[in-house]
Amino acid sequence: MRVYADNAATTAVSDAAMAAMTPCFQEFYGNPSSLHTIGQQAAEKLSLARQTFAAQLNCDPAEITFTSGGSEADNQALRSAAAAGARKGKKHIISTKFEHHAILHTLGQLEKEGFEVTLLDIPKSGVIEAEQVEKALRPDTCLVTVMFANNEIGTIQPIAEIGAVCRAAGVPFHTDAVQAAGHLPIDVKAMNIDLLSLSAHKFHGPKGVGVLYARRGCVPLTNVIFGGAQERGKRAGTENIPGIVGAAAAFDDVCAHMAENAAKMTALRDRLIDGLSKIPHSVLNGERERRLPGNVNFCFEGIEGESLLLLLDQKGVCASSGSACTSGSLDPSHVLLALGLPHEVAHGSLRLSLSEYNTPEEIDHILEVTPGIVAYLRDISPVWDELERGERKHII
Ligand SMILES: *Cc1c(COP(=O)(O)O)cnc(C)c1O
Repeated sequence: MRVYADNAATTAVSDAAMAAMTPCFQEFYGNPSSLHTIGQQAAEKLSLARQTFAAQLNCDPAEITFTSGGSEADNQALRSAAAAGARKGKKHIISTKFEHHAILHTLGQLEKEGFEVTLLDIPKSGVIEAEQVEKALRPDTCLVTVMFANNEIGTIQPIAEIGAVCRAAGVPFHTDAVQAAGHLPIDVKAMNIDLLSLSAHKFHGPKGVGVLYARRGCVPLTNVIFGGAQERGKRAGTENIPGIVGAAAAFDDVCAHMAENAAKMTALRDRLIDGLSKIPHSVLNGERERRLPGNVNFCFEGIEGESLLLLLDQKGVCASSGSACTSGSLDPSHVLLALGLPHEVAHGSLRLSLSEYNTPEEIDHILEVTPGIVAYLRDISPVWDELERGERKHII
């Protein structure tokens, strides 16, 4: 049995997306900038895709820009708000310690360019409070960027409350909604969101397609990619029509089935959490309530997350320790460290991220193999040995 439980890293393309994309390769292959019939057929596809995102997010199609992915959308959102702020002499940005690296590394670059960044601490719950944002606001704040849901621990942030705080203060608010999209309702008007990023491959669309919403009259977009006049001159390059069409079809599909998918995934997630909680000296990272329907993130004391992943893979389970972007390095996850976990505990982390394609049988399989692997790794772990002999204190 092979179980794919790494849907926060990427997802399989849905049937709906495949069906929409296929004719775009050999039938509607035109360049939407061409004035002839084949080009205009592609332009029509592009326009429909834009309308789909606008309708689902509750905005105007002209407020939607297609990018090469979530990272580019994040980069462009932050750079645009920073540039607009700098023009008014405002160079302070508020964000959080557990953002995706697409945000944190862009902020790091902006710091080098003279911006000042305040990164909010993460409470033990994994949920930021709107008051933290309110307290950090300054007269020279030009942007607040807080993710909608965290990619490692799945905790859901009070986006509407933070949006209200920012709107009242007249400060543009961006949210990286990559992990929330398709799982949680998103209404940019009701939530007072000014800038928002999505990535198609996290909701059963193709890789390499992102969406940037920018509220008209708030922050004018500045280019990250220069060239032709595509995307109202704000993002150059011939549009990825198959990808964009697939992204729209995937988004429509997940939004149409959001409630039923969430109910199914939540039931699977809760069984997984209950089962894994029985392993001694384990802890669920981030609170259980305000959590994405498919996210399970545990630390097991005394073991290395990487070894756990390799042995799980041998048993057919595809999981992750922290995020795909940080595995491969032996540094523990910045998200778990921000939660206040000590290095040695943060090392033993396991993220299982489900989709609506997972089945109860797959959850059974994960619960069957994981306790044995954890016990085996503890048997051969010098750290566990010290814990057992009382030379080191248990933390969890
Ligand atoms: C995956 C992810 C991104 C990056 O999106 P790409 O399309 O892979 O560039 C950004 N933010 C979050 C929260 C993500 O999970």
